[in-house]
Amino acid sequence: MENNNVTMDKIVSLCKNRGIIFQGSEIYGGMGNTWDYGPVGVEIKNNIKRAWWKRFVQENDNSFGVDAAILMNSRVWEASGHTTSFSDPKMDCKECKTRHRADNLIENYCIKHKIDGVIPDKMTNEEMEKFIEEHKIACPVCGKHNFTPIRQFKLMFETSRGVTEDNTDKIYSRPETAQGEFVNFLNVQRSMRAKVPFGIAQIGKAFRNEITPGNFIFRTIEFEQMEHQLFCKECDDEKFYNLYKQKAWDFLVSLGIDQTKLRFKDHDKLAHYAKNACDIQYNFPIGWSELNGIHNRTNYDLSRHQEFSGKNMMYLDPITNEKYIPYVVEYSIGADRLMLTVLCDAYREEKLEDGETRVVLKLAPFIAPYKACVLPLMKKNHSQKAQELHTMLAKYFMCDYDESGSIGKRYRRQDEIGTPYCITVDDDTLNNGTVTIRDRDTMKQDIVKIEDVKNYIQSRCEY
Ligand SMILES: [Zn+2]
Repeated sequence: MENNNVTMDKIVSLCKNRGIIFQGSEIYGGMGNTWDYGPVGVEIKNNIKRAWWKRFVQENDNSFGVDAAILMNSRVWEASGHTTSFSDPKMDCKECKTRHRADNLIENYCIKHKIDGVIPDKMTNEEMEKFIEEHKIACPVCGKHNFTPIRQFKLMFETSRGVTEDNTDKIYSRPETAQGEFVNFLNVQRSMRAKVPFGIAQIGKAFRNEITPGNFIFRTIEFEQMEHQLFCKECDDEKFYNLYKQKAWDFLVSLGIDQTKLRFKDHDKLAHYAKNACDIQYNFPIGWSELNGIHNRTNYDLSRHQEFSGKNMMYLDPITNEKYIPYVVEYSIGADRLMLTVLCDAYREEKLEDGETRVVLKLAPFIAPYKACVLPLMKKNHSQKAQELHTMLAKYFMCDYDESGSIGKRYRRQDEIGTPYCITVDDDTLNNGTVTIRDRDTMKQDIVKIEDVKNYIQSRCEY
């Protein structure tokens, strides 16, 4: 019997106790919306990123990876529109001193009271203040209605270059990785002799000065994006938009994620330059929320960079001799948010035949932090042979070693971090050269010759 009675508290506590994710700067009392990946967590995250790269670069037709600088020329953010419009309208509750986004207050009020046709994005700050006043919208924390006027909070982290804090040297921690792909369009196209349609992919950190509650690693001020920008001809945009919707879905399913917890959600309102946009949502313990975005951005990005940089972004089709600025179909997913998805989806509490309950992370084997753990049945008699085996296997994949406590306890620890195979070294190993390999999910055991162990594990952990 199993159930997936998962709550965010259970995930946070498992992550903390099993070396997956710790609170950022914890010994100093932490820092809001920052988290550190521990020894086990960094392996899971790296495996997710590797699977993504394999799917969207290695196996993807005509796709190229880049790793662009986080700090970019400030003109990039003028061209992208971030310097002028990337901010949130915030108001403070004077009663309980909490800070809220005015647009969210209005949106939630309208959903609750079934009011249609109110679009906060199209309202001025004065209009939003008036709406909140007229409807006496209450603070979601304390329930009172006593707000400060709206102030715009910039979402980009600013810093300055050089020794003087001079405005002309102001630079930003990038709020999205996408511009790194756009500004390298010409470089990649020329150096790789790429023909449209082609893609540029990147995995990298981005930074947003969010003050809203994070829900663990769902929303953090520093996060990692995995993005693929497909450059195509205008008439092919919808074809590729639909193709990337499918690729996005297939990728999530290939990670073993439960399809009944995934759904497409078209954007209710489109950015002014976008022709089409949707999310894939996952049913997190906090409810259905955005996991993955697919956007038809038209030729807006390259046109803006042509305008602001003065560089010609036209592509010359070598066959038809047509010249045009390519359209962009953007695919974007947060590595941290995907990690949270994978953890929530894999979490199980299983009632065993002996009446005990085990917590097990049913991670796809290629995502599991350790592919195997070597366990000497008795420390005194078997640890030397077990250590030899561990040393050999560690050359090929992440392999854990555990000799402390009963074998049952050791299995439980490995179940909790999702290790798919436990290899027990016992008297049979010393006498016959065989080990027992226990499967995490079925708990069934196979007898395997020592020389076959490496292939046994590797062949079951491929992506
Ligand atoms: Zn309040």
